[in-house]
Amino acid sequence: MILNPDNANIITVTDLVKKFNGLAAVDSISFAVERGEVFAFLGPNGAGKSTTIKMLTTLLKPTSGHVILNGNNPAEHKDAVRKSFGIVFQDPSLDDDLTALENMRYHAVLYKVPKDVRDRRIEELLRFVELWERRNSLVKTFSGGMKRRLEIARGLLHHPRILFLDEPTLGLDPQTRSHIWNYIKDINQKEDMTVFFTTHYMDEAEKIADRIAIIDRGKIIAIGSANDLIERTKTTSLEEAFISLTGSAIREQEVGAIDQLRARGKMWRRKR
Ligand code: ADP
Repeated sequence: MILNPDNANIITVTDLVKKFNGLAAVDSISFAVERGEVFAFLGPNGAGKSTTIKMLTTLLKPTSGHVILNGNNPAEHKDAVRKSFGIVFQDPSLDDDLTALENMRYHAVLYKVPKDVRDRRIEELLRFVELWERRNSLVKTFSGGMKRRLEIARGLLHHPRILFLDEPTLGLDPQTRSHIWNYIKDINQKEDMTVFFTTHYMDEAEKIADRIAIIDRGKIIAIGSANDLIERTKTTSLEEAFISLTGSAIREQEVGAIDQLRARGKMWRRKR
């Protein structure tokens, strides 16, 4: 991949590989994300999305390949890289026995947010995700959507240049999902913050992302805007484009159920 000469790319990934017990979960992927872009990794369960995010955010060491994130290599300059991003995981990593405000303060201390700006920034962000009125409530009394909003506020506390979100709306109702995306889009535009998220929801990738990388079995199959991918495959929706590119739909539960029925059918046939 040719690097943009004016360094417009905030993330550059070249031939990145992660193997577990000899099996490639991420199989030599290359891509770049521009500053200020909203970039989605779209793929079914087990495609390698979380493994990629973990390598980009210093949590996993690549087997091979190269990553440059905001000018640094995560494998070599962990601290510098960590300061440049915020992250929201699938599983809430908040402390349930602390209040919303205490969770924010704890994170601010961890990330060495200067004292003089700390309280103002915390108030600003809790107001932004509409949790300021509930700042003194224990997190264990929050709904799933409120927890996710608090995680997003916390992820933004140290003014990251990139926000990573791993399936940020998994398990949330449609209304809360759209609410969360509004916050993220808003902060992306106001602060020119790059957003990298993973999802297996077609509609989210289509609505939210400037560009989408379709990932399947550890490989990137295609990258482009939803329109690019639709045009390239001569289809009429992202879902059709996805099927055309990967040869299957993202309905792993349904597919699983059909496979089970087939397997059962085979057993019955064998018994007879
Ligand atoms: P996704 O986020 O797209 O659902 P993952 O990145 O979590 O996919 O997983 C990709 C593949 O790597 C899967 O087959 C998964 O079982 C495997 N995998 C992920 N983490 C580990 C691990 N720590 N040890 C062994 N295999 C793993």
